[in-house]
Amino acid sequence: MKRFEGKVALVTGAGSGIGRATALAFARENAKVVVADIAVADGEETVRLIKEGGGEAVFIKADVSRESEVESLIKATIDTYGRLDCAHNNAGINGDLDSVTTCTEENWDRVMGINLKGVWLCLKYEIPRMKKQGGGAIVNTSSTSGLVGAPGVPAYNASKHGVAGLTRTAALECAKIGIRVNAVCPGTSRTPFLQRLIDAGLEDYITGLVPVGRLGEPEETANTVMWLCSDESSFITGAMITIDGGLTAQ
Ligand code: NAD
Repeated sequence: MKRFEGKVALVTGAGSGIGRATALAFARENAKVVVADIAVADGEETVRLIKEGGGEAVFIKADVSRESEVESLIKATIDTYGRLDCAHNNAGINGDLDSVTTCTEENWDRVMGINLKGVWLCLKYEIPRMKKQGGGAIVNTSSTSGLVGAPGVPAYNASKHGVAGLTRTAALECAKIGIRVNAVCPGTSRTPFLQRLIDAGLEDYITGLVPVGRLGEPEETANTVMWLCSDESSFITGAMITIDGGLTAQ
């Protein structure tokens, strides 16, 4: 299936994990892909993997928490490929393991800056471009942690709830201009992001929390992002889609 022939897709945090899986999936379906990340070697590796598979991609370094860099990223996307049809605003960090009473101001600001402000900045510069073209589809990465509480990561949890609100508001603001805005809510996906907990010997514990009895794979979230960016989901906007093996159904 080549649902994205002639389309241009931007993925932030595309140097690793879920973002890399989405970038590769877009390229397999013939989109031209802008791979954005703060980590240069990782972003370039994603481009190499795409090209190795016969796809088309370019790496653009951008820190999503900085307005000037996000503005330049969208401009560079247009300068390179002439348009922007799909965006996966995915870059995120989990921050420190702490609590509401021990979380530092520095951790709070860093997590909010990347996970929440970063998504807002991407929307701010993507939407006008898509509007000019007459439409587009945007998917933000929230989390199961954007739906329920998560003791141990208060800043992360608040940032992902923030992404949920921002997604709904952007969806409503864009409802009449042909741009759909949705969010994916992955839970416990096997990426470098989760590796820290696996390395700490917590894999069995985490797996035990998931009703289907296994961790998710980044490709399972990527498949959902692709569907949300395709015409198959043409009546879906402002939705939070869980990819969590039943975690939040409990
Ligand atoms: P990951 O650590 O493998 O990838 C995150 C990528 O974001 C990295 O390449 C990193 O360099 C990049 N990044 C970090 N800060 C950035 C910045 N300021 N600007 C641009 N890029 C930046 O993590 P992942 O598991 O693939 O996570 C991707 C998204 O999925 C995150 O938003 C995360 O919160 C979310 N998520 C992951 C899980 C999971 O279980 N893995 C669960 C729920 C939500």
